[in-house]
Amino acid sequence: MRMKAAVSREVGRLGIEEVELDRPQDTEILIRMQAAGVCHSDLHTYRGELRATPPLVLGHEGAGVVETAGSRVSRFKPGDKVVVNWLPACESCPTCLSGRHNLCERLARTTFRALMLDGSTRLKTTDGMPLKHMLSAATMAEYAVVDECGAVPVPADVPYEIAAVVGCAVATGVGAVTHTAQARPGLPAAVIGCGGVGLSAVQGCKLAGCNPIAAIDVLDSKLAFARTLGATHVINSSEVDLVDALRELTGQGPEYVFDSVGAAQTIDAALRAVRPGGTATIVGLHAAKSEVAISAGALVLQNKRLLGSFVGSTRPRLDLPLLLELYRAGKLQLDDLVTKRYPLDELPQAFDDMEAGNVARGVLVF
Ligand SMILES: [Zn+2]
Ligand SMILES: [Zn+2]
Repeated sequence: MRMKAAVSREVGRLGIEEVELDRPQDTEILIRMQAAGVCHSDLHTYRGELRATPPLVLGHEGAGVVETAGSRVSRFKPGDKVVVNWLPACESCPTCLSGRHNLCERLARTTFRALMLDGSTRLKTTDGMPLKHMLSAATMAEYAVVDECGAVPVPADVPYEIAAVVGCAVATGVGAVTHTAQARPGLPAAVIGCGGVGLSAVQGCKLAGCNPIAAIDVLDSKLAFARTLGATHVINSSEVDLVDALRELTGQGPEYVFDSVGAAQTIDAALRAVRPGGTATIVGLHAAKSEVAISAGALVLQNKRLLGSFVGSTRPRLDLPLLLELYRAGKLQLDDLVTKRYPLDELPQAFDDMEAGNVARGVLVF
């Protein structure tokens, strides 16, 4: 079938164009997209900064309605409301069996190379050039074909935009706190960076009962928003040294620091800021291709822990429904997280707004 999609034909090039999408095979479903989240990973991908490179259709966060299902699909039927799970773990490899679905051994061969789970693609340009599917998802399009393990059911009363961001930013931010660091109640926490992931980490700290919860950013508007989501204190790190400010607030430093930026500077600050014995968790991908110097003394002599958190150590088929239920119960404030909606044609504007820090989370709506 023919449809409109966000296509990157080569590194650095982005266009909205008509493409051809093949019908879903045995265990695959065709989803009519209703919402697709705009994420830094999309930007990094079309600029060629991540493992999967163009030509491809962008997008990995998304929610929609199942239109048709392949002959061997057992979990979904046409009409079902779903969120795309861009970590379609096999749930049977040794890594999955150990509970680390976010690191499933199949993902490196397929999803992280922007291929379907059988290693092929279902997309091509109208002039016949094969296109890959970003993270086996390619949600920035009117329709997407995914394997049924790449989708999770969504309750009828959860808006599509909310479901779309739960599948990435929220799972990443909340999961870093609850799964990766396994934060305990009553202990002080800090979150560096107040984009979609950082604001979700702030909410994760609130769910975990951390106290106080400090939010750190360079934009006062984002800090004000973080307060409404559970931050008890805010620090503008363009005005004060964040390590000093956190020490002033907590004495020895927070027990937990979550770095949603992941730049060399913020990773270093996170490790320096945590109290002796405390845990610095790195969630952001800013320095993904760089070497970062850290203080070996801080790690050993102060018994600090430095953890990496990939998508919040999430097991999507288990965790996404739990997060959707927390939203329904009013325990996750996600309505305000989606600050701007765009038609597919305005994707370049959505990227610009995200880079300028004008939005907590932008979402394409179809
Ligand atoms: Zn994302
Ligand atoms: Zn696996």
